[in-house]
Amino acid sequence: MKPFKFISATSQEQAVTMLSKNAEAAYLGGGTNLLDLMKEHVALPNELIDIGNLKLKEIKATTGGYSLGALAKNTDTANHPLVRSNLPMLSKSILAGASAQIRNMATNGGNLLQRTRCSYFYDISMPCNKRVPGSGCAALEGFNRMHAIFGWSEHCVAVYPSDMAVALAALNATVKVQNSKAERTIAFRDFHLLPGNHPERDNSLTHGELITAIEIPKNNFSTHSAYVKVRDRNSYAFALISVAAGLHLSGNIIQSAGIAMGGVAHKPWRALKAEEFLKGKVATTANFTEAAEIEMAGAKALSHNKFKIEMGKRTLINALEMALKG
Ligand SMILES: Cc1cc2nc3c(=O)[nH]c(=O)nc-3n(C[C@H](O)[C@H](O)[C@H](O)COP(=O)(O)OP(=O)(O)OC[C@H]3O[C@@H](n4cnc5c(N)ncnc54)[C@H](O)[C@@H]3O)c2cc1C
Ligand code: SF4
Repeated sequence: MKPFKFISATSQEQAVTMLSKNAEAAYLGGGTNLLDLMKEHVALPNELIDIGNLKLKEIKATTGGYSLGALAKNTDTANHPLVRSNLPMLSKSILAGASAQIRNMATNGGNLLQRTRCSYFYDISMPCNKRVPGSGCAALEGFNRMHAIFGWSEHCVAVYPSDMAVALAALNATVKVQNSKAERTIAFRDFHLLPGNHPERDNSLTHGELITAIEIPKNNFSTHSAYVKVRDRNSYAFALISVAAGLHLSGNIIQSAGIAMGGVAHKPWRALKAEEFLKGKVATTANFTEAAEIEMAGAKALSHNKFKIEMGKRTLINALEMALKG
């Protein structure tokens, strides 16, 4: 591991000032992703600003909805009574990720910023545009079974790995950040980026910006929501496909739907076409199937992941049926 300076920040302002001054510094949340990347020489910060002592751990109701502190642990967030009763899809998505030990360490802010699990990204002997811009993409013609079917470019076909973020996308969350000048709020759909020509950029934060909270507006999905994750083994594995689905029903008519997919793109993939189709329809398997077909019609497979298109369709239908049952 490259030697680095370690500083424990005592205030938000101090953390932001210290990080903004040093282009090679990084914030340290729970460390469950960053430290692995450092051990593999993928991330090479020369200074870590530990933000663990900042007072950003509160989970609370607000006038418009709910606020999750950026430094609240994933376990505490998933098990919080407010989250369990009002945002069950979010609770389930967090508990579907990683392992109990990792969730005990991982923070909400760090979860959003975890990096792709593309194996070529972790292997510094291989070309990877995300790790070394301009070096090429080993996965494009390599082993790409776990990779994207939506929104990829010839520069990067990686998927974004967070489970929690898939539910946050379906719930229309926003991310509150602090920089050296002000606070700003970023809509979830604009927070993570598609790879385009710049796969080295995962999100729209600028260097130095600190996530302080995740805000979720009130919604009508709490009685009809689901998170379904399909993976190679039942625990400690990233999603091949996941779907977060929430239905707002009036009788058996769908007033609105919030649907997002994981394991399919460089960002949580909001299933807007399926949502649009379902609005005003009767909640039946036939309509769920048509919605899934409409959404998956835009998918484009790579050489090893054609199975994800059928799997994506079935997982969408399954998640909608589970949401309907409540
Ligand atoms: C074996 C294993 C299996 C896993 N399986 C899953 C899984 O199935 N599903 C899943 O979703 N996740 C999984 N994870 C990932 C895990 O959820 C993430 O590692 C974790 O959420 C990251 O949070 P952290 O606080 O430890 O982040 P860190 O490692 O501390 O930080 C990650 C990044 O975020 C930055 N950062 C942290 N906090 C902030 C902040 N407040 N503001 C700005 N920048 C910040 C850091 O500088 C760093 O770049 C797995 C991890 C491991 C090791
Ligand atoms: S898919 Fe992206 S992360 Fe993986 S090798 Fe290609 S450029 Fe790197």
